[in-house]
Amino acid sequence: MFSVTNFHSSTERGQSPPSRVRENDSVKHYRLRQLDHGGYFIARRRPFAALPDLIAHYQREADGLCVNLVKPCVKSEAPQTNTFTYDDQWEVDRRSVRLIRQIGAGQFGEVWEGRWNSNVQVAVKKLKAGTADPSDFLAEAQIMKKLRHPKLLSLYAVCTRDEPILIVTELMQENLLTFLQRKGKQCPMPQLVEISAQVAAGMAFLEEMNFIHRDLAARNILINNSLSVKIADFGLARILIKENEYEARTGARFPIKWTAPEAANYNRFTTKSDVWSFGILLTEIVTFGRLPYPGMTNAEVLQQVDAGYRMPCPANCPPALYDIMQQCWRTDPDKRPTFETLQWKLEDLFNLDSSEYKEASVNF
Ligand code: ATP
Repeated sequence: MFSVTNFHSSTERGQSPPSRVRENDSVKHYRLRQLDHGGYFIARRRPFAALPDLIAHYQREADGLCVNLVKPCVKSEAPQTNTFTYDDQWEVDRRSVRLIRQIGAGQFGEVWEGRWNSNVQVAVKKLKAGTADPSDFLAEAQIMKKLRHPKLLSLYAVCTRDEPILIVTELMQENLLTFLQRKGKQCPMPQLVEISAQVAAGMAFLEEMNFIHRDLAARNILINNSLSVKIADFGLARILIKENEYEARTGARFPIKWTAPEAANYNRFTTKSDVWSFGILLTEIVTFGRLPYPGMTNAEVLQQVDAGYRMPCPANCPPALYDIMQQCWRTDPDKRPTFETLQWKLEDLFNLDSSEYKEASVNF
């Protein structure tokens, strides 16, 4: 039984995300590309004026795909924010949020599965008392609410009038770190590369909006059953009240191993320090959730990285992917690639046949 699990008609930067064709449990991805003058194709020799024509063609015959298309897979779309709140009014009555079961806990509070207005499935983050100033939080939340992109976790509403502050978001399955540790070994390399490209797409959007994530790591990426990932916790790191700034950067909980040297040493957080963290995230992906710099303490990492040390190529990591990591870890932030570049490099890498992975090298 074959089915198409994902056909997107919208485009991001001229290219739509890859569509997937599933054969039993194995999934094959095809990218829909857009022609400059309009029209779409999977194989360049066979362009179509409109997406429905392309789909109809591949339903009639496989024409080079591993199988002809049968039926679209049901896609569980996150509800639109404005289904629930008015544009400038997203402080909601906490009585409209019902907590059902706890699904996680972090440094700053618990995460619960909940229902909003009785029926909408949501995740609810309950911030520990005193972890954020409500007015700072609300101001930041107004910006975060405007950051809407298929690869960013949607924020629906907040309750900031009383403690605990509640953040109501789209509900996902689990975080990428636990997913990689549980199931990463079952994912073929192209699938891992595709997951990386999805994260790069979300980060390219934040880059365009001049918004810095500050805490990009597999634990802050969420994933659902159809292997669609969403970036979470963007911007939160800045508004959560930690110890003083110096202690915050040297404390045991600070994610030194993900942080660019200029951010760790001089508090210079920029989109380019996010790019550094993205390189570390790539190592988490190819090692199925291993802690970066295994065997090294935070202090050793800080010192060694300053002295020029970089993580070696992880086992089984395609050289082209390691090239990308090294680009992300250039000492001069300006020499690191943009997320836009990272996105297309990873998409191109994903489009290679598995056999080509070993040989591919990336030239920026
Ligand atoms: P910390 O905040 O300490 O850096 P963290 O990011 O893991 O760690 P939280 O953001 O509080 O902490 O999330 C805790 C866990 O709850 C996550 O690791 C994830 O497994 C789960 N979780 C968070 N948000 C969602 C969501 N929207 N849908 C499903 N699960 C979620």
